[in-house]
Amino acid sequence: MVELIVPRPICSVIKCDDVNNIDLKSALKELEREHDVHEILPGIYAYKYDFNRISPSLINDYSFCPRLLWIQQRLGLKLLTERLLVALVRGRILHQRYERAVTVYDNVIAEYRVEIGNLVGVIDVVVRRGREYVPVELKTGAAGRDAHRRQLQAYIQLLGASRGYLVYRDRVEIVREERSALALLAEIERVVRMESPPDVTCRGCAFISVCRQLSGTRLSPAPRRTLGPSGERPSM
Ligand code: SF4
Repeated sequence: MVELIVPRPICSVIKCDDVNNIDLKSALKELEREHDVHEILPGIYAYKYDFNRISPSLINDYSFCPRLLWIQQRLGLKLLTERLLVALVRGRILHQRYERAVTVYDNVIAEYRVEIGNLVGVIDVVVRRGREYVPVELKTGAAGRDAHRRQLQAYIQLLGASRGYLVYRDRVEIVREERSALALLAEIERVVRMESPPDVTCRGCAFISVCRQLSGTRLSPAPRRTLGPSGERPSM
């Protein structure tokens, strides 16, 4: 039996450099293999996404801007700038390669799904150590380190583990259990169920065109999805 003890940085396990050659055109082509992607405003892309199940993965969106999270949930669309779209696809390719590489170990499970009540999450990698399941999250994108840590702490709590690992391209960080981690998910659920968008201190960002279109608009709670079966563009 061959076991993984501590995960290694992404780029020490797999080839990384070539993903930097992925541009917008090839990233779009790759993403469209899985999703119906639309450019809904100049430079803003969208695909259908289910925000109704509360997941630790929403912590990144919430940390970026609670108002944007609310808009995405109300539209039922994941919104991406060109830069984020390219980063998403580059990250997915690295995830797939890394997960394939580490599942040669007998104590590693990739894409581990955990579901408790209304909470659902898919953990990139879980390392079994005796009876303990240790979550490992691979991070290649632009979200802040604090959001990464809080997301992992939610997974640690969901698995009842004592620690987990954040694995970056060039380093690995150990993160300890934080008992209040799931409280943040309750706050996220409160935000996405609000009838009107939450007040935020807007710092202005690449999504300003989306927010301008929707500012002052009191969107009705339903429908949550605006892309019809024919894939027509949502009106925003
Ligand atoms: S423009 Fe302002 S409100 Fe809109 S997503 Fe960016 S920071 Fe949030």
